[in-house]
Amino acid sequence: MIEKIEQLLQEVDHLQASNTEELEALRIKYLSKKGAINALMADFRHVPADQKKAVGMRLNELKDKAQEKIAALKEQFEAQDTGLDDIDLTRTAYPVGLGTRHPLSIVKNEIIDIFARMGFNIANGPEVEDDLHVYTKLNFAADHPARDMQDTFFVNVNPNDVTKNIILRSHTSSVQVRTMEQAQPPIRVICPGRVYRNEAISYRAHCFFHQVEGLYIDKGVTFTDLKQVLLLFAQEMFGSDTKIRLRPSYFPFTEPSAEMDISCNICGGTGCPFCKQTGWVEILGCGMVDPNVLEACGIDSNVYSGYAFGMGIERITNLKYQVKDLRMFSENDTRFLREFEAAY
Ligand SMILES: [Zn+2]
Repeated sequence: MIEKIEQLLQEVDHLQASNTEELEALRIKYLSKKGAINALMADFRHVPADQKKAVGMRLNELKDKAQEKIAALKEQFEAQDTGLDDIDLTRTAYPVGLGTRHPLSIVKNEIIDIFARMGFNIANGPEVEDDLHVYTKLNFAADHPARDMQDTFFVNVNPNDVTKNIILRSHTSSVQVRTMEQAQPPIRVICPGRVYRNEAISYRAHCFFHQVEGLYIDKGVTFTDLKQVLLLFAQEMFGSDTKIRLRPSYFPFTEPSAEMDISCNICGGTGCPFCKQTGWVEILGCGMVDPNVLEACGIDSNVYSGYAFGMGIERITNLKYQVKDLRMFSENDTRFLREFEAAY
C-alpha cells in the first residue's frame, strides 16, 4: 500500500491540465468519492497495526497535496479567463448618462475665470475659523451684532477671550486676513468659498451660501481702480451693455464703502418685477480696505492702500438663471440640475 501511495504522490506532483474539462477529470480521478485516494482510505483498515501510523501520515499528505495542486491549477484557469467570450461585440452600446455641473459651480468658475484674466490669484482658507480672523482683525467692534449667536454659528466659545471663539466663517473675508498675514503687497487675490450664517431657511435665505471676495493691495491703489475692475467684471459677466452704479454704504472693514448695482439684465434697465421697477439690481459690496485692517494684518497703511469687494455666488446665479428659490441649490433635485446641461 505504501508503494501505491508513493506512486500517487509522484503523479500528483506532475499533474497538468490544458483546460477546465481536463482539470475536472483529474479532480474526479483523485479526489471524488470513487477516486484513487478515497479507495486507499477504504483499504487503510487492512494495514497492519504497526504500520498504521506511518502509512496514515503519508496518506494524509497525499490527500492534501492533491487538493492543493488541483486548487492551484483551477486558480490559474480563472486568472486566464478574461470573460471576453461572454461579450457580444455586435450589441448596441448602452447610453452613457452624463452628469451636469452644479449651477453654483458654473457661475463660480466663470467669476474666477474673469478675475484670473485680470491677474487675480485664488486663495483658500478654512471654513471653521477663529473670531480673530473672521471679525477682530477686520475691525468689527467687540459688541458688533454680527458676533451675536443669531448671526454666527459657534463651534467653541472661549469665556475669557472673544477672539479665541471658534466659529463657522460667516464671510470669506477671513481668507483675505490670512493672505495679508502671510504675504506683503502687491497682493491680488480672489477667495471663493462656502460661508455659514444662523438664518432660518426660506426661499430667500439659507444657513449656508457661497461668496467670492476680492482683494488688491499695492502702492497707490485708489477707488478709481476698484470701479474700473468692477465695471469690467459686470460687463464680462452680464454683457457689454451692462452699466454699474455705486451707492455709499458701510462695512467695518472698508472705508469708504459702497454697494454696487448693475442695470437689470432681465429688462435691460426699463423696469420689471425682478428689479422692483427700478431698473437696477444690487450685486456686491466693496470699498477701500480700512487702514485699521491693514495694520492688524501687518501691512504698513502709510505705504500701501487697497480695495476689497465681495459678492454672493447665489445672487449672481439668480441674476443669470432666474432661480427664484435659494433652496433649489442644495436639494439635489436632478430635474433642476439637469436644466444646466447646456451650460459648461
Ligand atoms: Zn428689471
